[in-house]
Amino acid sequence: MRSLEALHAVLDPAAIVTDPQAMALHLSDWRGKYRGAALALLRPRNVEETSAILRWATATRTAVVPQGGNTGLSGGATPDSSGKAVVLSLARLNRIRAVDVEGDTLTAEAGCILADIQQAAAAKDRLFPLSLGSEGSCQIGGVVSTNAGGINVIRYGTVRDLVLGLEYVRADGTVIHGLKPLRKDNAGYALRELVIGSEGTLAIVTAATFRLFPRQRVSATALCGLDSPSAALKLLSLLRQSAGERISSFELMCDAEMGLTLDLVPGTALPLERRHSWYVFIELADSDPSGRVGELLTETLGTALGENVLEDAAIAQSEAQAKAIWHLRFAVAEANRRAGPIVSHDTSVAVADVPAFIAAVEAMATERFPEARALFVGHVGDGNIHVVLLFPQQTRRDRLGDLAATVNERVFAIVGAFGGSITAEHGIGRSLANALSQSAQPEALELMRAVKNAFDPLGILNPGAVLARP
Ligand SMILES: Cc1cc2nc3c(=O)[nH]c(=O)nc-3n(C[C@H](O)[C@H](O)[C@H](O)COP(=O)(O)OP(=O)(O)OC[C@H]3O[C@@H](n4cnc5c(N)ncnc54)[C@H](O)[C@@H]3O)c2cc1C
Repeated sequence: MRSLEALHAVLDPAAIVTDPQAMALHLSDWRGKYRGAALALLRPRNVEETSAILRWATATRTAVVPQGGNTGLSGGATPDSSGKAVVLSLARLNRIRAVDVEGDTLTAEAGCILADIQQAAAAKDRLFPLSLGSEGSCQIGGVVSTNAGGINVIRYGTVRDLVLGLEYVRADGTVIHGLKPLRKDNAGYALRELVIGSEGTLAIVTAATFRLFPRQRVSATALCGLDSPSAALKLLSLLRQSAGERISSFELMCDAEMGLTLDLVPGTALPLERRHSWYVFIELADSDPSGRVGELLTETLGTALGENVLEDAAIAQSEAQAKAIWHLRFAVAEANRRAGPIVSHDTSVAVADVPAFIAAVEAMATERFPEARALFVGHVGDGNIHVVLLFPQQTRRDRLGDLAATVNERVFAIVGAFGGSITAEHGIGRSLANALSQSAQPEALELMRAVKNAFDPLGILNPGAVLARP
């Protein structure tokens, strides 16, 4: 504990936690898949204290694992088992510093919960469009550091498209004051873009300035039953013609995943008369109160039914029904957590390749892992498909690591053949660091290492995440 002594002079007592019970929640991830140990959990209240912690970490060569809401799915916020690192929780940096209605921007500290930011924007009659199943727990620092996606990317892009300015602390404690609300800024290299999505390996994010959008006044939600992923893409094409940029979400789910969700998550119900092989979740929204999104959706789904693109559809008739439809989609991660031993992936391919990609993964899974069920769910409008292989309950837990390595190898080979990405939105974390070293172009990897070295020459920021240890 000697090395922590210097911190007591600069931090309040509540900022330094070494009690094992109090630290426990911070030493494993949401799924309980990764576990680690730490010298301490540090909880600064502001950017100055965060900077002091990093100066101390540099002086003592202590590894720092930043943590937000700890909902990440790639093991990036969990320390290794050495017990030598500190976990740096940004949860107490939780002020919304400003909402600028005229300029359509919002500035929030890293520890703010995403749902609170959505509400703060709504309270000023604006929209903050980032929406994820974990929005009640994940934090601004986490969503920035993972470049999170979610269900509205098809319309508003990922976090990278929403961030205008960033305040962050370098490994040596220097604060970079980049909270500019500028829409255009070509002054030098875009360092902010490097920090976004760097999963705590380049800097500690302490605050961000985001773009806001006009609040949606009218919306229409539907759950559709279809026979194939190709039908889903035909439906997307029809919707693009009729509703254009009003498409806020377009999500795909296979029936096996729907079955698990209905069976395992309380409060879920299928609003269709029967089960279908595939489902699409749609949301159209318009900031113009006279926008005809309800009629547009009804007409387009009618056309799709007439052209045999669709088998059935339920259009929400109330806000409660719309919420119930989205509950089915958001409950998937919980269903998978309860379902049993799974190996999951967060892949992306070109949107047009989604049906062939799914077919290729399904064929591989049937041949190589006949005991497993292949599940598919995801943001099909972005080409982002979560592939999940669910193994029987009796699968020995100590076999899962080897099994996951073999499944990953097979799935990533297919991703490679389609020119896709091994992670679309969850990030590399610790779970895919080796896979990144094997799949990235060596010269690109060399550049990534050079960037890491420029930001963090001692390698104390989240070591082992993103870039595998040499
Ligand atoms: C039910 C559920 C649904 C989800 N749905 C989606 C989805 O649709 N789309 C999606 O993109 N993700 C999704 N996720 C994954 C996850 O919620 C996101 O990755 C989210 O952005 C993580 O935020 P967090 O605050 O929990 O970060 P954490 O899990 O705490 O950390 C994630 C990474 O960011 C780093 N980090 C955290 N805070 C900081 C900081 N202030 N500075 C520097 N580095 C930091 C950590 O070290 C770690 O590497 C889902 C997760 C769950 C559990």
